[in-house]
Amino acid sequence: MTGVRTVKNYINGKWIDAECDSCLDIENPSNGQIIAKVPLSTKAESERAVVAARAAFPGWSNTPVTKRVAYMFTLRRILQENEEKISRVLAEEMGKSLPDARAEMKRVFQNIEVACAAPMLQQGDKLIGCAAGIDGEVIHLPIGVFAAITPFNFPAMAPFWFIPYALVTGNTFIIKPSELTPLTMEVMTRYIDQLGLPPGVFNMVNGDKTAASAFIDNPDVNGVSFVGKSATCRIIAEKCAKANQRYQAMGSAKNHLVVMPDYVKMDELIRNMSTSCFGCAGQRCMASSAIMAIGDEMYKKVSEKFIEDAKKFIVADPLDPKVAEEPMLMGPVITAQSKEFIHKMIETGIKEGATLALDGRDIKIPGSDNGYFVGPTVFTDVKPGMEIHKTEIFAPVVVILKVNSLDEAIKIINDHQYANACSIYTQNGYYARKFKLEANCGMIGVNVGIPAPVPFLPFGGMDDSMICDIKMQGKPAFNFYTENKVVVERFWKED
Ligand code: NAD
Repeated sequence: MTGVRTVKNYINGKWIDAECDSCLDIENPSNGQIIAKVPLSTKAESERAVVAARAAFPGWSNTPVTKRVAYMFTLRRILQENEEKISRVLAEEMGKSLPDARAEMKRVFQNIEVACAAPMLQQGDKLIGCAAGIDGEVIHLPIGVFAAITPFNFPAMAPFWFIPYALVTGNTFIIKPSELTPLTMEVMTRYIDQLGLPPGVFNMVNGDKTAASAFIDNPDVNGVSFVGKSATCRIIAEKCAKANQRYQAMGSAKNHLVVMPDYVKMDELIRNMSTSCFGCAGQRCMASSAIMAIGDEMYKKVSEKFIEDAKKFIVADPLDPKVAEEPMLMGPVITAQSKEFIHKMIETGIKEGATLALDGRDIKIPGSDNGYFVGPTVFTDVKPGMEIHKTEIFAPVVVILKVNSLDEAIKIINDHQYANACSIYTQNGYYARKFKLEANCGMIGVNVGIPAPVPFLPFGGMDDSMICDIKMQGKPAFNFYTENKVVVERFWKED
């Protein structure tokens, strides 16, 4: 294919052509058109970024925190000025709607804002008089070189769960964006380049797991953040632990929504649930994909109304000007392989005996024949343990289960492999309290369909949804990126 540009790497303050021979086509999932190529950088190319980041560390870590933060203030301004441009790149390569892309950008800005509190949040503690004439002090020091490996579904926000925090705390950084959606980070790197950071402080290497693997088990990389499938989290967690590298590994999800029989605000409930399930075509780690209604009556009401509302989603190319600003717009799923997997899972659900109450497989989008669209799909009569309940389908495919009590719903949630988030809908304080204490997920919602914490709060799941022990965002981010060195000191009076 001629005329299709190849994305570059950004190493040591320079845009560099990758030296590798192989590239991957970046497709617009709405129409299958190739919009660019991404190089599958070699391990050696990633290692070059590590060398640059390591060389930049002494100077950057000794730069006053106020100056480091000032770069982030500028970055926030530039990104805000270009929000619409970035959102369009994001919507084109990932397939989410423009309102969704803009919402993602808001999270980018908020993460930068929280990181800009570094002069407060990086402060240490001092205890005068731990013992006679002895003081104790905790100081939070930058550590060295950090890398992040991010997934396709949040090409702007996921990198910014890490970049601002790593940089303000005095570390140097390498991002390896998803090979499926590298263009958003490419455009954002152009703005980072305008900051005039010292070379090597921020680097970007494109590629797949080969490029990413250079950061893991590498003594020159002090820490790795990974967001992606749980199976990959496990590999990364094991290797990093063995190499004594710091790591974060945020994995897959199957988020449950529980509707209690007391809930009466049906219209708000249904719209809240359907946007949680079908927004971003179900490809959010915080998307809900399993609904549990308590009791026969609520199960019947929820199933009927939810399916009715699901049919109201407009499925289209998110950049089609006729519908681009629609709030109930759903774009394509990310790849042909993903669509094929989703179809296979729908077949599995039918074979397992669930009722396919709404089938999104045959959807046709005029003018987007080659896009990877799946319409809203709903299974009812689903039983816990069916494959369609166990598996993260990462699609606009929702399973509805009838359960008899809150205890039973909590047990189903707690027995599930994934424990990223879950929500309850109730006006009853007793049920809400019981749910937030007993449901074992990292993020809990009460009458909120997507309980995604704002960046002032920590973000992360439990069980197989988070295979590490330190969350992202907020105060934990400052802990991850700093060494809490403890000083015990004593001075004698001069003779
Ligand atoms: P993925 O695991 O396929 O890829 C994620 C990143 O890992 C990519 O950059 C990829 O190149 C890299 N990678 C793949 N295999 C690797 C390996 N063996 N070693 C090192 N790097 C490797 O995930 P995806 O399909 O891009 O993203 C979707 C998944 O991410 C879903 O499971 C979703 O739930 C999860 N996710 C989780 C969160 C969270 O906060 N828990 C947030 C967003 C997405």
